[in-house]
Formats: sequence, C-alpha cells, structure tokens
Amino acid sequence: MSTIINGKEVAQRVRQTLKEEVAKLEVKPKIAVIMVGNDKASEVYVRNKSKACDEIGIGFEEFLLEENAQREELLNLIQELNLRKDIHGILLQSPIPKHLDIREAFNAIDYRKDVDGFHPINVGKLSIGEDCFVSCTPAGVIKMLEEYNIEVEGKNAVIIGRSNIVGKPLVQCLLNKNATVTVCHSKTKNIEEIAKQADILIAALGKPKFVTANMVKKGAVVIDVGINRNEEGKLVGDVDFENVEPLSSYITPVPGGVGPMTIAMLMSNVVKAAKKLQ
Ligand code: NAP
Repeated sequence: MSTIINGKEVAQRVRQTLKEEVAKLEVKPKIAVIMVGNDKASEVYVRNKSKACDEIGIGFEEFLLEENAQREELLNLIQELNLRKDIHGILLQSPIPKHLDIREAFNAIDYRKDVDGFHPINVGKLSIGEDCFVSCTPAGVIKMLEEYNIEVEGKNAVIIGRSNIVGKPLVQCLLNKNATVTVCHSKTKNIEEIAKQADILIAALGKPKFVTANMVKKGAVVIDVGINRNEEGKLVGDVDFENVEPLSSYITPVPGGVGPMTIAMLMSNVVKAAKKLQ
C-alpha cells in the first residue's frame, strides 16, 4: 500500500508553526515582491504569496514595474530595498520581460535578503553545506521527506531535471543528507534504466506523465515536482500517478503535493531572514 504524501497538510503545519514564531518576534518580518510587466500566472502566484503572508503575520509590499521598465530602474529599486531596514526578504517574480537580464537582477539582491535562494552566495553556501537560504521548492521536498520520516541516508536518489531552481539545488540538499545522487536531463541516455535504480525518484522536468510505471522500482518514493496543464486544462504532474502509485511506497500528488510546500518554505525563509537581520 502506498502512502500519498499530503503536501497541503505539511505546508499548513509549517505555516502554523511560523505564525506562532512570528507572534513572538519583536520585529515583524517583511517581504518585498517585485513584478515587472503583467504576466497573468505571476499575478496569481503573487496573490497567493500575499495571502500566505497575511495569514502568518508577515508584512508584504508589492512593487510593480512597467513592461518596458529599464535595467537601471529595476537595479535601483533592488538597491533601495537592499538598504531598507524594514524589508527582510526581496523576491523578484519571474519571468521578467526579455530585454532585462534576470540573472543580473537576482545577483543584485543582497544575499542576506535573498529568500528565493537564487544568489550565487547562497548557491555556493548550499554546495559547501553552510547555513544559507535554500531555493524554496527543493527545501519543500526535503521538508516533506523529513515530515514523513523517509530515510534519505544511503539511498539512491535520482532527479530528473537540472534547472538552477529545482534540480541542481536538490542535488546538494540530498547529498547533504547522505544520499547517492544521480541527475538526469534532456541529453541523458537510458533514463528508464537509471530511474529504475532509484529508491527516491524525483521528477522535475515539466513533461506530463513522463515517469511511467516501467521506470519505477517497487517500493520507491516518488516525488513529483512538475506542474503542467493537460489538454483539458487540468493540473498534472510529471508522473503517471495512476499507474505509478501502486508501485510506490510514498508518492506526492499534483496538485496538493510539492506545490503548497514551495510557498510555505518561502515564508520560512522570510522569517529566517528577519531573525538574522534584526
Ligand atoms: P526547467 O527550467 O524547464 O528545467 C527542466 C529540466 O528538465 C531541464 O534540466 C531539462 O534538461 C530537463 N528535461 C526536459 N525534458 C527532459 C526529458 N525529456 N528528459 C529528461 N530531462 C528533461 O524547469 P523547472 O523550472 O526546473 O521546472 C520543472 C517542473 O517543475 C515544471 O513543470 C515546473 O512547472 C515545475 N515547478 C514546480 C514548482 C512547485 O512549486 N511545485 C516549482 C518550480 C517548478 P536540460 O537541462 O538538458 O534542458
């Protein structure tokens, strides 16, 4: 029998704990969210983040720049927020318009306020095992494994996907927990065979139903990071849930798995930033 990991429930517990912690702080944690242009999906994400902040007692300030905003305008805003004592976390919502360099903008954020964990200093600290801000989705995956007491040490973990925000930081997170980690990507040969060796299989590639039953070892833990829309407009993950679930020992659904954890871990990073900066 497989256990379906309830990300919504774990995320709610994280948020409740944060709420209690924030109530005891002398300084109210606050995040600044920058949006450039009017990407519809980003508007929904930002609204959800704002709601989570409200619930926990975290201050939220939104900065909207026009679609045609210039490089200096964005960098100046980041600099201003870096210096503001009442702002503990800065989040630049992606995507931003193509004429702007998102890497340059991420790098301009003070790493002590980099609650997304995208700054090279945080990425570097993660890779050498120092305390830092960890990218929220990988942090959420690890938190879920911990909450379900899933042993990671000595296990074969296979990650499909090597993006800077999910796959790569997950490698470090799992290595730090003493897993043996293999990463697959679009040029990997024999993915099925590699995936089948996994005790913990993490799909983070953004291809609906990519992970099929023939790729999964009996008893594997299957974590589905993917968020895709199928032909009917329904949210689906990267795993063929229906056929993989009977084989797995633990599995995350989509929606209601990794998704809710990402915002919870962002909130956790803001509280951590406020505590460090106060
Ligand atoms: P991304 O930047 O597009 O990266 C996708 C990765 O998957 C790349 O490394 C790519 O390989 C690899 N890949 C693509 N097709 C492949 C294939 N056929 N076989 C093997 N590897 C393949 O995506 P991302 O930002 O990491 O996001 C991945 C998925 O997670 C998306 O569905 C996204 O919506 C979702 N996501 C969810 C959350 C959440 O909160 N749950 C957060 C972030 C992302 P190459 O490097 O070789 O191109």
